[in-house]
Amino acid sequence: MKLIKSINPFSGEVLKEFVPLTPREMEISAEKAQNTFESWKKSSFTDRSSLLKRAANELRENREHYAKLISLEMGKVIKESRAEVEKCAWVCDFYAEKGEEFLQSDRIDLPDGKKAKVLYQPFGVILAVMPWNFPFWQVFRFAAPTLMAGNTALLKHASNVPQCALAIQEVFEKAGFPEGAFQTLLIDSDSTLRLLENPIIKAASLTGSEKAGAAVASTAGKHIKKTLLELGGSDPFIVLADADIEKAAETAVKARMINFGQSCIAAKRFIVEESVYDEFLALFKKHLSALKKGNPLDEDSDFACIARPDLAVELFEQVQKTKEMGGKIVVGGKAPTGNPADFEPTILTDIPHDSPAFSEELFGPVASIFKVKNVQEAISLANATEFGLGGSLWTKDLKKGELIAAEIETGAVFLNSMVASNPWLPFGGIKKSGYGRELARHGILEFVNAKTVYLG
Ligand code: NDP
Repeated sequence: MKLIKSINPFSGEVLKEFVPLTPREMEISAEKAQNTFESWKKSSFTDRSSLLKRAANELRENREHYAKLISLEMGKVIKESRAEVEKCAWVCDFYAEKGEEFLQSDRIDLPDGKKAKVLYQPFGVILAVMPWNFPFWQVFRFAAPTLMAGNTALLKHASNVPQCALAIQEVFEKAGFPEGAFQTLLIDSDSTLRLLENPIIKAASLTGSEKAGAAVASTAGKHIKKTLLELGGSDPFIVLADADIEKAAETAVKARMINFGQSCIAAKRFIVEESVYDEFLALFKKHLSALKKGNPLDEDSDFACIARPDLAVELFEQVQKTKEMGGKIVVGGKAPTGNPADFEPTILTDIPHDSPAFSEELFGPVASIFKVKNVQEAISLANATEFGLGGSLWTKDLKKGELIAAEIETGAVFLNSMVASNPWLPFGGIKKSGYGRELARHGILEFVNAKTVYLG
């Protein structure tokens, strides 16, 4: 039996080891989630809302404890871990306050004088398969609306963040949620697919790679269960000639370097009009070089390391292959010498269209910068990807910006700002970035039955 290990990627130290659940233990947890659902679905919005508020308070009161766990297990710098925990409290408060309103039944007046209602009722037990990159946020943005709607949840978290996974269950327990409303299951991928086949599980939400998404969605499909997939991205960051170039370059570095580049909505392809290309590139280099590398637990570190050595190796290979195919490394690109999870922030230019930096997701601190002749070429390049998660567009002409935004094939476009998730805004992708929406009203409607009641 393979143990689930919590390893500090910055030091390589094994922090803890966990024995995965047996198939029977997994079934018992599913049964418990179903039993809890039977009463939880009848609880009032007021009760659910006050529990979510208590979860938010627990996160804020013990922010340091949770933030430190995140930094230790996946190498995020502590100031970003704190911000992540705060954001989880925000999403709990958001659904505590807005959930009831979002789930109010609709009334439909039919042309023949008859009436109907649409009720929004919970599905039941929902399985969440979650990644390590924002080990708290990805889970809370699923859990807050899912629980508020009256569902119960089972979490299969990424194998490299078991302590975060258990801590999240603890947050809900400390808040006073009924036992079984939210359970973390320490299990591997194969067991996850078997669990998904269990009739108790009514739907699944997955954030992660295309490969994991396809595996979960095909198993769910065989059993006619709904899935929500939030997969990778290769987000364009378009800088037009009339943009505020200083602000665009400063934000571009933030947008690429957040979480050391390991974010689905990180800006990955910088598409710059040729008249401002040199200026943008120079400013990008300047802001990138100002960032400080250090221990994830140090207050002034801006970045530390990749979350796992194998991911650093994969990223390095993508950069090397792009170089061999004719791409130019302007900054970085050297192999790690000490810690195998180290990675040098890297800038690539002159990127061939058949190279990994053009067609694949680069999940780390590598900026691919492209020069284009005009707006039309910028739009074509932005759309020349299998992904479609987010995009950022920089221009001082907002009217023009809105017209261009309509032509970009993504789930979101942010004008003069980096792409960021926000409880008030629907979040999700198209194409190979997945389907379904999280957050806002859209997110809470994913795992409810919109039931029509015709009032004859
Ligand atoms: P994965 O997609 O493999 O992992 C995400 C989650 O899915 C984990 O809980 C993982 O469990 C689980 N999982 C993986 N394969 C299966 C499967 N066949 N059946 C059921 N569950 C599965 O991400 P990686 O950690 O391997 O990262 C690889 C790449 O994925 C990254 O480089 C990036 O491109 C993308 N990614 C995208 C994210 C996003 O936010 N959209 C987040 C993380 C990764 P386990 O850990 O046990 O394998």
